[in-house]
Amino acid sequence: MRVTEMDKLRDEVEHCTKCPLYHSRKQVVFGSGNPEAPIFLIGEAPGFEEDKTGVAFVGKSGQLLEKILLACNFNREKHVFMSNIVKCRPPQNRVPATVEQAACLPYLEKQIELVHPQIIVTLGSTALKGLFGENLRITRERGNWKLWQNYLVMPTFHPSALLRNPNLKRDTWEDFKKVIVKYREIVDQNHFCKYI
Ligand code: SF4
Repeated sequence: MRVTEMDKLRDEVEHCTKCPLYHSRKQVVFGSGNPEAPIFLIGEAPGFEEDKTGVAFVGKSGQLLEKILLACNFNREKHVFMSNIVKCRPPQNRVPATVEQAACLPYLEKQIELVHPQIIVTLGSTALKGLFGENLRITRERGNWKLWQNYLVMPTFHPSALLRNPNLKRDTWEDFKKVIVKYREIVDQNHFCKYI
């Protein structure tokens, strides 16, 4: 079997001890999906279920994300690659500390370089700030295309925020509709979505 750059990176990350989160993790959650996906989704950090299974976005918020992707007619294995700002679960699901984010960010940057997506979607405040800096606010930036290292980025809410506050679902769906429109513009003009 051919060992890809992504396989090598996965192996490196799975043995990582660069920040204190390695003490408490059960396993590293590297990320999953199509390594050549046109869309790269970035979340905050693995949660309980992800830490247990080693798979990104499998807990309750992952299930909600799956529903959103299905509504967009995006398939997890074909259209997207998904990962997080940090690859190890912070204790009690706290927001990863700045030092932890800084230690882990080079892995995400390398993943993005290897996948080379046409569209990045940041989910939640931590992912947005992780790419663009601390002084951005998700409530102000969501729904507006941004550029990060020449990649198009759509910031939106994290699905866990939608679970806490269902009123955010409408805005989130508006943001994903923009992603569908952009996807049709730059990736596949025939992409079908029954909602738009
Ligand atoms: S969170 Fe990232 S930097 Fe920290 S130990 Fe895990 S893989 Fe390494």
